Amino acid sequence: MAGAALTPVVVLGATGSIGRQTLEVADHLGLPVHGMAAGTLSAHIIELARRYPDASIAVAHPPEKRIDAALERRIDFGPEAVTALARSPQTTVVNGIVGSAGLEPTLAALETGNRLALANKESLLTGGPIVLETLCSSDGDLIPVDSEHSAVWHCLRGEEPEEVRRVILTASGGPFHARPDVNLCDVSVSDALAHPTWSMGRRISIDSATLMNKAFEVIEAHFLFGLGYDQIDVMIHPTSYVHSFVEFVDGVVKAEVGPPDMRKPIQNALTAPHRVRASVEPADLAGVELVFAVPDRERFPALDLGYRAGRRGGNGPAVLNAADEVAVAAFLDGRIRFTDIAVVVEETLEAVRPASVTTLSEALEADATGREAAREAVGSRTFR
Ligand code: MG
Repeated sequence: MAGAALTPVVVLGATGSIGRQTLEVADHLGLPVHGMAAGTLSAHIIELARRYPDASIAVAHPPEKRIDAALERRIDFGPEAVTALARSPQTTVVNGIVGSAGLEPTLAALETGNRLALANKESLLTGGPIVLETLCSSDGDLIPVDSEHSAVWHCLRGEEPEEVRRVILTASGGPFHARPDVNLCDVSVSDALAHPTWSMGRRISIDSATLMNKAFEVIEAHFLFGLGYDQIDVMIHPTSYVHSFVEFVDGVVKAEVGPPDMRKPIQNALTAPHRVRASVEPADLAGVELVFAVPDRERFPALDLGYRAGRRGGNGPAVLNAADEVAVAAFLDGRIRFTDIAVVVEETLEAVRPASVTTLSEALEADATGREAAREAVGSRTFR
């Protein structure tokens, strides 16, 4: 890629799955790592600090005991240190933080005029309107890292927004969509964690099994691409080979295709609009089965809860996300059944009064209110 200047990277959530793969891609591209942030002072972040001696390090939660003497280098502690890293000028900030703690660094990166490679779902779910406002009023740009949104991003390149008929997000369907014989009331935690195509964290694996993850992606697509909810569809595609489609007004359909591998969307977010040879194996399409099916919206009510929360706007998406996080934690703890997750989320959406989200504090309040209402809903369902 001759002549294109790639900026150094800041990796937030450096010890997570996105963070680890980002470092791998940065090494492959020969990009300097300017900074790394992690939630806690784990052996992993200390090892990364040694491996990247020039990178600044921030850790959100200070350790209980002072152990500075044991560290051979400076580490800044606290959420503000993580946000400060996102403000490093002329960097690409990869936000792989899990949870609503990712919102402030997202806003900080954009305000600074940085490129934001966004993998933190809560930035758009909890603070979508604020992120859009900041994006419009700053020099920052945003490239999605999620495989589906990265696919849509590729399909929309060079196209006119008014010529898009609809976007079709693909969903693996999780471990249960293809198994109508399974009674979802009785599934165990380990059954629900067994994702067929992607290996992921515990919450996102459960969110894939309920289709709530796809509900979140519908809302994210609304914010990322300025689409109405009636322009966003979901199709079940068990092999996760087509990462999403865009259909245009003339009937032409574009897709982005390949084996599931997050290094591809990560690399795109670091190099776009340029293309650089990847370390990923080229896609071998021979023998690949491309099967698509309409989602079962009755068996998987989370999908429509997402559309409902998205259309409600304001605090709807923030409450949806907060309620789901609480409900999934309760399921993983064995306190509620798998099918109770959507029930808890629906009850929470009904219990929390609609409100606007135009400031960071309103976004964080919507998150906190959603969590509190969801805990009550979980409490009323436990021990049944
Ligand atoms: Mg995805």
